[in-house]
Amino acid sequence: MSRLYFDANATVPPLPSVVEVVAKAMTETWANPTSTHREGQAARHLLEEARRQLAEALSVKPAELVFCASATEALHLLLRGLQPALGARPAAVFPGEHSACLNPLKDWSAVSWLPELPEGCATVVQMAANNESGIRYDMPQIEGALRIQDCCQAWGKVEVDLSVCDAAVFSAHKMGGPRGVGMLWMRPGLPWVPVMEGPQERRRRGGTEDLPAILGLAEAARHLPARLARNAALASLRDAFESEVLSWSPDFEALGRQQPRLPNTTSLLLRGHSGEALHMALDLAGFAISTGSACHSGSVKPSHAVMALGYKEAEARSVIRVSMLPGTTSDEVAQLVAALRKALKL
Ligand code: PLP
Repeated sequence: MSRLYFDANATVPPLPSVVEVVAKAMTETWANPTSTHREGQAARHLLEEARRQLAEALSVKPAELVFCASATEALHLLLRGLQPALGARPAAVFPGEHSACLNPLKDWSAVSWLPELPEGCATVVQMAANNESGIRYDMPQIEGALRIQDCCQAWGKVEVDLSVCDAAVFSAHKMGGPRGVGMLWMRPGLPWVPVMEGPQERRRRGGTEDLPAILGLAEAARHLPARLARNAALASLRDAFESEVLSWSPDFEALGRQQPRLPNTTSLLLRGHSGEALHMALDLAGFAISTGSACHSGSVKPSHAVMALGYKEAEARSVIRVSMLPGTTSDEVAQLVAALRKALKL
């Protein structure tokens, strides 16, 4: 049975040229970039060239980028490294942040949830776009507060702007790069200390750099302008899909429909239906989508990101997320429409 994939916000396939670059690097330039012999120096040269290209793509300085293994790791390095200086001072955090961000914040003692702004706010954490609803957010600008932006979902789907923040994180596998590499960007002079010690990455993240994956990330970044255009073209497909589904029942709703959103994403609240059951029915019918719930050790919890939008637990359990790949076609969407209608027994 052929399968259709509508879960781009979970991960996307690496671009063919990324696979080639990674495979080449794994066979030819596998030396350790920290080694001082010629092989190591050649690897170091490629590493720094990749950093330069990525910095250029983000309009920042190469030395400000720290390579790490994932955005989850980048968020942990960032927030645990800021904790000694800022963790006891008031912080304002968007409640729909990814758990990769909320978990390291558990060590912070004075967190308020945006839009509430605590007196003397020293840190603001606001993702550029939410992974579930696709809603895009502006960074609150608060005098004197350090601004942190999770750009994982936005990068490659819409323009990201680092001039509005002081630190940001990125993930390669959401934008056509390989799994296992992420980036942390920090403006110089932040009150940050390293938490994974070692000589690599200017002593900011210990551990041998995964050069093949980093080169793959730089290759994916070369394709960002084309990817942005292909993702932008999905908005009309997504809107037509949404209008069709919403026409089936007045109880159906699309999260954040009136707000700026990622062009590839729709989260549909299908009241009276179980998101989990629809997810399973569609999976059996050949379609990969996701739900607004996250499966933790066997129990399906309603999504905190959906509830942060003001929905009740039962409503959060009725959400499915459809996130399209660059290149998703209207024919593929028509097939999903038919399968969803059948699964809903309409
Ligand atoms: N932040 C957001 C908004 C995400 O969607 C994800 C992945 O789902 C992450 C962080 C974590 O990224 P990674 O898979 O690179 O750890």
